[in-house]
Amino acid sequence: MATGTPPKRASFPARLPASGSAAAAPGLPGSARTGAAATPRHAAVLPQPSGAGMDSQAVRNAMVERLRALGGMDPAVLNAMLRVPRHLFLEPGLAAQAYLDNALPIGHGQTISKPSVVARAASVLLQALGERPARVLEIGTGCGYQAAVLAGVAGEVYSIERIRALHELARRNLRALRLPNLRLLLGDGMLGAPAGAPYDAVISAAAGEQAPPAWLEQLRPGGILLAPLGQPQRLTAMRKLGGGRVESWSVEDARFVPLKSGVL
Ligand code: SAH
Repeated sequence: MATGTPPKRASFPARLPASGSAAAAPGLPGSARTGAAATPRHAAVLPQPSGAGMDSQAVRNAMVERLRALGGMDPAVLNAMLRVPRHLFLEPGLAAQAYLDNALPIGHGQTISKPSVVARAASVLLQALGERPARVLEIGTGCGYQAAVLAGVAGEVYSIERIRALHELARRNLRALRLPNLRLLLGDGMLGAPAGAPYDAVISAAAGEQAPPAWLEQLRPGGILLAPLGQPQRLTAMRKLGGGRVESWSVEDARFVPLKSGVL
């Protein structure tokens, strides 16, 4: 698929095109909140193809059509995924694989989640909430890809990472996307992130035996927690009810990197 030299990070665009069909969503290019609405709808704001072809909207469209064909995906999530260039979150040597359904290394023993996993998790979250979340906490920023997708469907996203080098990588990766509704935090996500609490949703990209108590404590009543839990791992959803009660259900098998404590 890819020939020639992959794009260099330094040449990534400051602005990205709105997809032809995507409705404006909070925080992503093409929405009024980013100020990009003034850009003509079909303006070519991406640089000329740089060789790998990964900066083509067509490649992203094809990925999203494959995700749609899996069924059950939320249209708002798919629209956000049309507009987040996943290749910008990968090493240039891996950019050619960015729009395949692969988990790929991002350094420090961690991985970027598969597009289908991001799409499914965000869709389950929106469907369980029944509305666009005002505020979401993501545990495990990694390279920042899922955080950018969440920023396209939520009012405000807090994303916390325990490995400083990845927190900084995500900051660099996300700079060009200019998402004013995304806050990146360095810290131990097992403690949640009190700064943004209460959250409508907490979503973890790292797997633990059980959900740390802080996650449920920092959810608003009615809020949804979604995390890979147990051994073998299952993507598990929980709804915080009144009076300290929780309703939980199992979504599907999962394979996520482990949730660990402390900050590196
Ligand atoms: N969200 C990423 C996936 C990153 S992989 C994506 O878009 O693809 C999961 C991440 O969780 C790793 O970067 C790992 O370092 C991080 N992690 C694990 N335990 C954590 C903790 N207690 N607090 C914050 N981040 C944690």
